[in-house]
Amino acid sequence: MIKENFERVEENIRQACRRAGRNREDVRLIAVSKTKPLPMLEEAMLAGATRFGENKVQELTDKCIQLPSNLEWHMIGHLQRNKVKYLIGKVACIHSVDSLRLAEQIELESAKAGVATDILIEVNVAEEDSKFGVSVEETEQLVREVSRLPHVHIKGLMTIAPYTDDPETNRQFFRKLRELAVDIGSKNIDNVCMSELSMGMSGDYMVAIEEGATMVRVGTGIFGERDYTIR
Ligand SMILES: *Cc1c(COP(=O)(O)O)cnc(C)c1O
Repeated sequence: MIKENFERVEENIRQACRRAGRNREDVRLIAVSKTKPLPMLEEAMLAGATRFGENKVQELTDKCIQLPSNLEWHMIGHLQRNKVKYLIGKVACIHSVDSLRLAEQIELESAKAGVATDILIEVNVAEEDSKFGVSVEETEQLVREVSRLPHVHIKGLMTIAPYTDDPETNRQFFRKLRELAVDIGSKNIDNVCMSELSMGMSGDYMVAIEEGATMVRVGTGIFGERDYTIR
């Protein structure tokens, strides 16, 4: 089942890229495996998944040590500062940085470990009360502050669009995130790259790709519905 799901998502990505005149290689698929047991991740791996997204530190690090080391791990959930140390050196990218204090903790632990950590700034483009992330208006200021941290490398922006049955309603938010990235990118801030846009989930990743997503985070579309009651 996972194999078929994965292949369907792959095909949808290819088609969205074709519609948008983009290269398939410019969009990375992140298989969001939160709450799913290891054998399901192994199935996805066999189908071709190489990047996994998790939203809890403990779950990410547990899975990470049990699977082959050539996989990429992406932290996509809200992150507490006291847990940053467990992620450094293990994750390819932290997608959910939305405060200077969190970025400073990533700086501290990265410096200690002698590595640089790639991050994205999470933007609450749709201005939902329930969501983490900085506002569009605050983003440039935060980017400028974080850019001064030498062991933290900003690669772009991330957003979580509202849950919707009609993906077209989220197109405006994806477009806004891309415009914001282009705007900030044009200011040529030292130690800031605005090439990555992490946007689009199971319900709307094709629209996100049409609007410039370079990373799509797909969980349900690959692994099926999540059951939070058994955790
Ligand atoms: C759970 C989650 C996803 C995946 O959601 P699906 O709708 O299952 O594809 C993507 N991004 C974030 C930040 C998530 O927490």
